[in-house]
Amino acid sequence: MRRSQLFTKTQKQAPADEVSKNAQLLLRAGYISKQMAGAYEFMPLGLRVLNNIIEIIRQEMNAIGGQEILMTGLQKPDNWQASGRWSDEVVDVWFKTKLASGAEIGLANTHEEALTSTLRQFINSYKDLPVYPYQFQTKFRNELRAKSGIMRGREFIMKDLYSFSIDKDQHNEFYELITQSYLNIFERLGIGESTFLTFASGGSFAKYSHEFQTICDAGEDEIYLDRSRKLAVNKEVYNDEVLTDLKLDKTKLEKVKAAEVGNIFTLDTKFSKDLGLNFTTKQGGQQPVFMGSYGIGPGRTMGVITELLADEKGLVWPEGIAPYDMYLIRVGDDHDMVRQADKLYDDLIKLGKAVLYDDRNEGVGKMLADAELMGIPTRVLISEKSLGAGGLEVRQRTEADSKVIGIDEFLNKL
Ligand code: ATP
Ligand code: MG
Repeated sequence: MRRSQLFTKTQKQAPADEVSKNAQLLLRAGYISKQMAGAYEFMPLGLRVLNNIIEIIRQEMNAIGGQEILMTGLQKPDNWQASGRWSDEVVDVWFKTKLASGAEIGLANTHEEALTSTLRQFINSYKDLPVYPYQFQTKFRNELRAKSGIMRGREFIMKDLYSFSIDKDQHNEFYELITQSYLNIFERLGIGESTFLTFASGGSFAKYSHEFQTICDAGEDEIYLDRSRKLAVNKEVYNDEVLTDLKLDKTKLEKVKAAEVGNIFTLDTKFSKDLGLNFTTKQGGQQPVFMGSYGIGPGRTMGVITELLADEKGLVWPEGIAPYDMYLIRVGDDHDMVRQADKLYDDLIKLGKAVLYDDRNEGVGKMLADAELMGIPTRVLISEKSLGAGGLEVRQRTEADSKVIGIDEFLNKL
């Protein structure tokens, strides 16, 4: 991508009304745009990051047997009346609207009800189980406070997977598998070190649910952390009984602020019973399907990565998530310089690198500042001066010094 073609611009200052660090930086760097409070839009660079995050999650979900689907956001009341969750008193984040006919519908805040009802036509026998459908889909939630930038939107994409199993044993096996899978995901996203499996309230279906909490000042949760065991307890369920149950030593726990990037939940037969999702057992009886649900917020995760890794100069992306591998700066616009820089750009692309090429002929200071702000892992600068010194000036975003390296040597290394 040539910078001269990219329609987004960088800004020196964030909008005064934007309080969260993630939104401030992402707005300044042109990764996102804000339509209204709690409603952000992903611009080209931001969408590339979001899609990279989504792709890592997708690979891990497919690896454990997930089957990707895409459901509708429109919800009919009867499914939710069956589960007792249509009322605004029970679910306080509903967005509801009406069809032209006047019939009430809801905008999905989660998909247990809808998917359970859909699967009635596909699951008949124990031979049809287990199944693990999942999606990356837009959820609507009328969140009371939306001050955490893309970490808490009123509209956001969720990865939601639902497990449908024969019984608790089969469910538990998958629950363990996906726990490991989530840890892999956060490792691959570069926040493995700061993300902890956290015991949280299990609701009325199970003793605990499990959250994946990343230590982060901008997070809205508080957890008690045992670093040596890589385990934590959410403040919501922190008490002596729970500590004894989990064999946690109170004196070794640290209280930290954290953001929930994912969670996993045993649902038991709550929704299958409410919505009539049954199967025929080996013995010929009828039984409700045993369920679980497993969420990750790719947008919230992107916000958390921003918060954790950014420095005073701007964004910092780990390789594999960054929108581009390299930010190529060309200094000067005489014929020969343009020819050399264009050729370098082409050669890098031929090597499979994703390159953002600053071909604008802006002042060097402005181009360098933009490269820092955008947080792309490798910065490559070509100028009369660098060529005079032997080639390209190359710098990693997280390192202080740049190195001069010959063009051929640089390309060979890649
Ligand atoms: P929270 O307690 O933070 O509101 P939640 O318990 O409502 O989260 P779930 O309903 O389990 O979260 O959603 C699954 C995942 O979706 C969360 O772990 C989080 O990563 C993400 N998520 C939830 N709400 C939002 C939101 N408003 N904006 C962005 N991501 C969200
Ligand atoms: Mg919530």
